[in-house]
Amino acid sequence: MTRTLQERSPRRRTRLRGAVALGACAACLALALPTPAAAGDPSPGAPSPGAPGAGDPLFPRAGNGGYDVRNYDLSFDFTPGSYDFTGTMKISAVTTQALSSFHLDTDGHTIDRVTVDGRRAAFKLETGDGGEKAGTGQELVVTPAQPLRSGRHFEVTVAYHGNGKDPRTGAQGWSFISDGGFVSTVQATRADTFAPVNDTPSDKATWDFHLTAPKGWTAAANGKRTGKRRAGDTRTTWDFALDSPMAPELMGISVAKQTELRGKGPHGLPLRHYVPSGQVERYKPVVERTGGQIAWLEKQLGAKYPFDTYGVQIVKDGYDAALENQTLSVFSPNWFKDAEKNDKYTTTMVHELTHQWFGDSVTPSDWQQAWLNEGPAVYYAARWADDKGFQPIEEKMKEAYGKLDAVRKTDGPPGLPTELGGFNIYDGAAVVLYALSQETGEKTFDRIMRSWVTRHAHSNASSRDFIRNAVEVSGDPSLTTFLKHWLYDKDNPPMPGHPDWS
Ligand SMILES: [Zn+2]
Repeated sequence: MTRTLQERSPRRRTRLRGAVALGACAACLALALPTPAAAGDPSPGAPSPGAPGAGDPLFPRAGNGGYDVRNYDLSFDFTPGSYDFTGTMKISAVTTQALSSFHLDTDGHTIDRVTVDGRRAAFKLETGDGGEKAGTGQELVVTPAQPLRSGRHFEVTVAYHGNGKDPRTGAQGWSFISDGGFVSTVQATRADTFAPVNDTPSDKATWDFHLTAPKGWTAAANGKRTGKRRAGDTRTTWDFALDSPMAPELMGISVAKQTELRGKGPHGLPLRHYVPSGQVERYKPVVERTGGQIAWLEKQLGAKYPFDTYGVQIVKDGYDAALENQTLSVFSPNWFKDAEKNDKYTTTMVHELTHQWFGDSVTPSDWQQAWLNEGPAVYYAARWADDKGFQPIEEKMKEAYGKLDAVRKTDGPPGLPTELGGFNIYDGAAVVLYALSQETGEKTFDRIMRSWVTRHAHSNASSRDFIRNAVEVSGDPSLTTFLKHWLYDKDNPPMPGHPDWS
């Protein structure tokens, strides 16, 4: 997401608060944690309950243990204005331990029926410990009729209903549009306010969506539209498929009075954008900038855009930030207020586009490593701003370097933030990348970044992986110590090439 608007949006920042306080030893602890998805016991022992959390340092109860989701298939029938919905979530998963029961994250839903492999399963709702602070709402605990052995494929189907404005245990991922529709903006841990999921970035899966709305409304979702069909006399169902794996935090579904605009990006990449109905003339020139931005980033990174479609969604109102929903970044209209006067708004578009490589394709193993998302997004947006003559990157980085020293002490260094949403993981992390580019030279730096997005495409990776990749690509083992100081120290290291910076 984009920090600049977060600053204008204290509400958003507040809802991301609630990280655990970090002691002196937390650094070693966090670094020693295994990837949560791999943390389950693979041995076929006696069945036991799956863990209620994925072990995220910032959101301990978000996500769950004991299984790995392969596909989500969500049917969601929404009535604008009243905000009532009914949903059916079919989850295909593989157990990573023998399971007597397992958890899903869900919040604000009435659960009507749960089956596992077609058989009725027992279930109960528990309030997640710490609620929002733990990064989760409620836990849906499912007990299958028969325990599940380890390494086994299974399918769980949850039928549920609710209302978008129902009270929930914490903040929610619904952004309400004044036309009576909504758009989902669920980062970091609120996909569970739309559907039962394993709400952790470490468990990525492919997705199918079937969104139903009354005629006259337009539904949108991540991935390619694969169908549009009648659902009775008055409703329409829109089908979408996302073939590349996605973490739940990047789910972007909406029903709104919106108009789809189609285009083509580099190499014939299909683009589809959504703008408020009646404002096509205003926003067409804005969304048409996307193809050029993709071409520019592909050149910077030396790597093709990672998915089979992209687009921007501009909502009429009800949302005041920008967010990198996978294949469909969503924007507040506030970004484009001066679009007729100057091009500076494109910097934010490039920020969210950069996330499609950093965050969406290469996803951090846990939320404490969010610098791997935001650092590159701020850094490449700064390169864009430099390229377009808005602001020299050196000036921006010098300013950020000056601020970062104090922020390290209050909010944690870029690699070990005490919460999400702060300067440390945005501009602070861009300063880390800038320092790396100054140390290695830009050519080597570009090779490091290209290797990163290629090697870890469509998977999870960690700060440790980033350091290892930098050393391997550059052939310079001293980068391990260099990057550890920049990522984890309480004070700024000196900036290479700029001894005068303080
Ligand atoms: Zn961002």
